[in-house]
Amino acid sequence: MPLKQKVLIVEDEASIKSFMAAVLSANHYEVISASTGAQAYGMITSHCPDVVLLDLGLPDMDGLQIIRSVREWSHLPIIVVSARTHERDKVAALDLGADDYIVKPFGTSELLARIRTAIRHTRTREVSESVAQTGLFQSGGMVIDYDKHHVLIDGKDVHLTPNEYKLVALLGKYAGKVLTYDYLMRELWGPGVKGDNQILRVNMANIRRKIEKNPASPEYIFTEVGVGYRMADGD
Ligand code: CA
Repeated sequence: MPLKQKVLIVEDEASIKSFMAAVLSANHYEVISASTGAQAYGMITSHCPDVVLLDLGLPDMDGLQIIRSVREWSHLPIIVVSARTHERDKVAALDLGADDYIVKPFGTSELLARIRTAIRHTRTREVSESVAQTGLFQSGGMVIDYDKHHVLIDGKDVHLTPNEYKLVALLGKYAGKVLTYDYLMRELWGPGVKGDNQILRVNMANIRRKIEKNPASPEYIFTEVGVGYRMADGD
């Protein structure tokens, strides 16, 4: 028997917590849970969960605070599970380093899929060492060559501009994870950049024209509307 993955559910509503716990146990996860932020901290440090499912509206603190503190010392996957639907809240959580965001109410299979993805990405961090060794990121017909600074589609160089390359290279480095508009703006144009994402959208439109067969229905770089962009998983 492989070792069970351990999931920490941080949720103050008993009915939601027991629903999630039942679903996860039935799918062979080991489940631990906390109802307050303080309890959650304790369990994260002492029980080393593989994934945290985090409610934001906790009785003693805002869940965002937990993301902020955990990210100071750990890459532990954190999936926010919240009733807050505003894009502003999603962006705040992802910017602080949450791996994903699920809006309540959610479906069981969605929850399980997001957990599997988050766990896979922990391993992808090790895979990216293989990227560090080979200098290549590959997803389907796309290859990012980090040594030569170019991107190939089906073996052909697509001739990106330096900024276009930087964007694709960054998304490739964090493949599978949403990078927010603000994060990408700051990485490319510096911390003083103004909030308007127009320049980013223009660059992305040009990139898609060059790398996607059908830019309206992309295979490599996906838009999370109002939030940011996500690169397809590497092979
Ligand atoms: Ca709550």
